[in-house]
Amino acid sequence: MGQLETRNLTKIFQDSGQEIVAVDDLDITIEDGEFITLVGPSGCGKSTTLRSIAGLETPTTGEVYLDGQEITDRKPKARDMAMVFQSYALYPHMTARENMAFGLRMATDLSAEEIDRQVTETAEMMEIGNLLDKKPGDLSGGQQQRVALGRAIVRDPEVFLMDEPLSNLDAKLRTQMRTELQALQQDLDITTLYVTHDQTEAMTMSDRIVILDDGRLQQIGTPLECYHQPVNQFVAGFIGSPSMNFFEIELNTQGEPTFVHDGFEMKIDEDVLTDVEGHESLTLGIRPEDIEVVKADARNAITKQVQVAEPLGEVTYVHLEIGQQQCTATLQGDLVFDAGQTLSIRFPQDRIHVFDGQTGNALRNREPPARDDIEAFAEGQVDETARSDA
Ligand code: ATP
Repeated sequence: MGQLETRNLTKIFQDSGQEIVAVDDLDITIEDGEFITLVGPSGCGKSTTLRSIAGLETPTTGEVYLDGQEITDRKPKARDMAMVFQSYALYPHMTARENMAFGLRMATDLSAEEIDRQVTETAEMMEIGNLLDKKPGDLSGGQQQRVALGRAIVRDPEVFLMDEPLSNLDAKLRTQMRTELQALQQDLDITTLYVTHDQTEAMTMSDRIVILDDGRLQQIGTPLECYHQPVNQFVAGFIGSPSMNFFEIELNTQGEPTFVHDGFEMKIDEDVLTDVEGHESLTLGIRPEDIEVVKADARNAITKQVQVAEPLGEVTYVHLEIGQQQCTATLQGDLVFDAGQTLSIRFPQDRIHVFDGQTGNALRNREPPARDDIEAFAEGQVDETARSDA
């Protein structure tokens, strides 16, 4: 078991007479075996949340529960949680084997032989058996992090707490370790709370993401829920790269209902109108990859000059100025553009997001893609092929 819960968790620091609310009334429940990632901008309270759960910080108010039992005041060692940090925190004078055995020696009364057996077994699983007799100074960063992970795993804790464990590694190793760590967590089925500022890690590794801003919970959901159905403009802008484009718009209901912006007008359908009516100010959001290239005379076409085109091979980022505002479109890599070229684009109505301009709350989100769309997509592909063959 390893169900973890925070209730009304609040941590206020005093700094030169000033109060800093690092974590503000946070309620999260992490189910047994779940991989949850905490994300948010620098200073939003990710590490403080993790440290409060680990027992390294004392919450100002609120509680932490493990399997329904309150553990708020329990010492870190008595929590059955293993932490992995960005700095590997290995003892430099000990070999990898001694580092991995240390926690077991301190926290259990297992015999030396049993500890050695468990360390060797874990090291083999982690493919670091050949490193066991080396000291940290003789290991690369990736190897040290593997030993640090091994040290956490060998303790067989109820919960892993990981604070940016991969951020000291180079990009390639990081990608590899990300996949390994994910596979390992699935095999071991140990509840994991993982702090990162890396969106790719959050999107690819997690069962669910917890998004914080300024110490406050913004959204908990699966990566795709947060991506396609953000609860507010903050989440919409934080998740996704390049970021969602935002336009402050007005709703004109005289004649055909229309969104009006300095740089474009967009006629809207009845269902969009129903979602947004009655709000004083509105912000339209569209993800770069949801922007369509259309003919200049198409309904709701926005025709502008390409300011900058960035061909990445797989995709091309095209930057346009719409009104006074920058807009990025992610288009197919085999479309080649030059700066200054005229381009007509459209924001498809089934892909747009609309937020209340004052509260930032989402009034309308796009539907997440359905799983069985894959079949429909494949059938469409067959039809296309048949047509081009004909
Ligand atoms: P980062 O991504 O930069 O690591 P974070 O989201 O992990 O940031 P925290 O380290 O939890 O954020 O910090 C949250 C807020 O609390 C910040 O404003 C930080 O300056 C403040 N803070 C953290 N620890 C202390 C402390 N010991 N004393 C005073 N203020 C602190």
